[in-house]
Amino acid sequence: MLPPGKTLGVLGGGQLGRMFAHAAERLGYRVHIYEPATDSPAAEVSAHAVHAPYTDLAELEAFVRGCDVVTYEFENIPTDPLWRLENAAVFHPKWQILEVAQNRLREKTWLRKNGFPHVRFAECEVGGDLAAAIRGIGLPCVVKTADFGYDGKGQQKVTDEASLAKAVAAFKGQRAVVEQWVDFKCELSVIVARSTAGETRSFPVAENIHTKHILDFSILPARVAPEIQTQARALAEAMADRLGLTGLLAVELFLTDRGELLVNEMAPRPHNSGHWTMDGCVTSQFEQHVRAVAGLPLGDVGLTAPAVVMVNILGDAWRWTGNACTGQPNWDAVLQTPRAHLHLYGKKEPRSGRKMGHFTVTAETTEKALELARALKEQLQG
Ligand code: AMP
Repeated sequence: MLPPGKTLGVLGGGQLGRMFAHAAERLGYRVHIYEPATDSPAAEVSAHAVHAPYTDLAELEAFVRGCDVVTYEFENIPTDPLWRLENAAVFHPKWQILEVAQNRLREKTWLRKNGFPHVRFAECEVGGDLAAAIRGIGLPCVVKTADFGYDGKGQQKVTDEASLAKAVAAFKGQRAVVEQWVDFKCELSVIVARSTAGETRSFPVAENIHTKHILDFSILPARVAPEIQTQARALAEAMADRLGLTGLLAVELFLTDRGELLVNEMAPRPHNSGHWTMDGCVTSQFEQHVRAVAGLPLGDVGLTAPAVVMVNILGDAWRWTGNACTGQPNWDAVLQTPRAHLHLYGKKEPRSGRKMGHFTVTAETTEKALELARALKEQLQG
């Protein structure tokens, strides 16, 4: 167990690192951030920050040697430098898990090999026959880049011959994954923590609504049968165990019309769909992450209100005149609402689709929480 006062290193300096730093420093740890960009949400609130490329082995080695444990807030970190530094520091989770999660093809192959339910897929190597892979899966389907895709970036839905031809042209020279299109009833996610002692605990299941492929609302409790929630949590816990994970694992799931759960994605880090825990759960996902990697006992995961809804605040909520940003959102709408909490990430430049912050609301029922959340979202945008 790493007692308070020790140094936790984080690779990545985004909002997840910022909220991790808040939780860690509250528990008395020092947080060091390694982030290529000089202006980052996490560096701003941490004891120390190093700005250098992830591939700068010397800088990275000096950084990890100054930390008692190293974790991540971003999964697209090149793993080559990490395995070279394997003996220089303690990394939680291990780099092999990062390597699986940062590439869709490896991720899906891992799911298939380990018998976890997933969306039917086909792979297409660079220069391979994408049209044949698409026809093999059948229409409609979605083509995704194998590497470094997120929030719907590098994805294209294929519904007919015209969109098939477009996809073939767009993915030329890239490794791609073709997935069957799932007509899901809803999207769910589970965040599970596994500590250095092997203790495993999952948060309640979130129901997620995406707009333009980006998370818009997380709703707790999810509006699905308790058996589905139990199944989803058991599935995420089994995945964390199978990976031998230490830290957090977020598992995104589709619930199909037939009541089947299929894993869409996994991420070995805190997750946007877990932000509700900051105001609606006894222990936040960030505190749980600290506890897991520091070897502390895991915290309670009970809800602190009957219902919680989290809403993402994107750069689109700012006022725009053409391409020029001309004003901030109407923060008062959220600030003046007693059961709403505003979280901003300190990012200087709003952009369309960029995650700038989020807010949560609690209420007596999910319907009331969702109604209030939708109303505040609208008022925020003026
Ligand atoms: P991803 O980046 O793979 O998480 O995709 C972002 C969002 O696109 C998901 O949360 C879904 O809303 C949608 N999506 C992705 N893959 C599929 C699929 N195979 N079938 C239906 N919707 C999908």
